[in-house]
Amino acid sequence: MYYLCILFDRLSTYWLPNFPNATRNAKRTYWLRGMVFCSEDGRRLVGHFSKGIYRYECPGKRGKIGVPKCGCPNLLGPELEGRVWTEVADFLGNPDIFQAEMDR
Ligand SMILES: [Zn+2]
Repeated sequence: MYYLCILFDRLSTYWLPNFPNATRNAKRTYWLRGMVFCSEDGRRLVGHFSKGIYRYECPGKRGKIGVPKCGCPNLLGPELEGRVWTEVADFLGNPDIFQAEMDR
């Protein structure tokens, strides 16, 4: 469905301080913008808001002349963010992995 590229500087400078606001803020913050990639074609997912629902979607789905459309599903924002946040929390809750990343 998706794969995640965790950029550590963004995790510490952007995600962690903003996460509580990002979930509450009515004016959506696509806090995963630039960090989640389509598992089908590897494109960076972009935030898209319509009819009161926001999603992350693959630009490959829009289609271009001569390029087949990507068949990946749209991902609902709150669902994806919830899932990713769980993964991040697990990750941060594991001091060994966290330390290894910080030491790189
Ligand atoms: Zn795609």
